[in-house]
Amino acid sequence: MGEFDLIARYFTRPARRAVTGVGDDCALWQPQPGMQLAVSSDMLVEGRHFLSTVSPQRLGHKALAVNLSDLAACGARPLAFTLALSLPRIDPAWLQGFSQGLFMLADAHGCELIGGDTTQGPLNICITVFGEVPPGDALLRSGAQAGDDVYLSGSVGDARLALEVFRGSLKLDTALFEDARLRMEMPDPRVALGVALRGIANACIDVSDGLAGDLGHILKASGVGAVLTTDWVADSAAISPALQSIPMARRLELALAGGDDYELLFTAAPDQAPAVQEAANTCDVSVTCIGRITAGQGLQVLDAQGIPLSRRFVSFDHFSH
Ligand code: ADP
Ligand code: MG
Repeated sequence: MGEFDLIARYFTRPARRAVTGVGDDCALWQPQPGMQLAVSSDMLVEGRHFLSTVSPQRLGHKALAVNLSDLAACGARPLAFTLALSLPRIDPAWLQGFSQGLFMLADAHGCELIGGDTTQGPLNICITVFGEVPPGDALLRSGAQAGDDVYLSGSVGDARLALEVFRGSLKLDTALFEDARLRMEMPDPRVALGVALRGIANACIDVSDGLAGDLGHILKASGVGAVLTTDWVADSAAISPALQSIPMARRLELALAGGDDYELLFTAAPDQAPAVQEAANTCDVSVTCIGRITAGQGLQVLDAQGIPLSRRFVSFDHFSH
């Protein structure tokens, strides 16, 4: 099988909303009049963003999920995506699984594959997603206001927990490990929540590098500070049963600095609290208040007694490891 057979067999489907999709030099897309386009790219490199043990189905899912998560963070509705693939060899079973996982998630979000590029090389997957949002409605990192509540969707820490079990630095009961592993390998992008938070949240980011570090991006962009509580790490919907089974000190580290969570971290004025809960209920996802935006600078993390913890929760930086 050659490059063009591969594209035809695994990545070509009839165009739906696209004017033209895979097969020509460019894909053509007719934007809805008056809408803004939201665009984001994410690359996944073997050994860096995923382990060789992951199934191709889950990898196909995750490659798109991390991109959809960026659209979610902006409150954008997914439209289409392109896929640039570097493959060491043509492996039909792998391609079958990968494209299946990819298209399952794409279909769940009505997001159409409209083009890409395929080349031989080390396994590397780069997706660019396109979404739409009404002008002025996009959620940005820069809108946080002093006095805002800080919220987190779903739960954090599980992806890093699973990674640490793979690395052998932690042990988990098999059923709990499988739950954590599913969170690591098949994150569920919070697209519906992002859209529902338009006009409610003042600032939003998706948690990819670690909660504390990603909150730092909101603080910097908004010129504000924050106080994070940690009582929710002891017991709340934001901490899974798997993470509950880990001692508190390590649990804090995994929850605040673990990364790969793909949850939404957002701020909203206190009088929006009922609207935040309503949005969460509608989208069937939990939302936990984990702190408050302050007028000062920087991030302060308080322990259960309200005493500041040391500044060890830094974000994941690909060039510092
Ligand atoms: P060109 O050389 O003109 O850039 P290619 O030969 O790379 O075109 O690709 C042929 C067609 O297949 C193009 O429409 C391109 O967008 C599409 N394509 C290539 N690789 C992929 C892929 N992995 N997924 C989806 N579409 C792809
Ligand atoms: Mg090309």
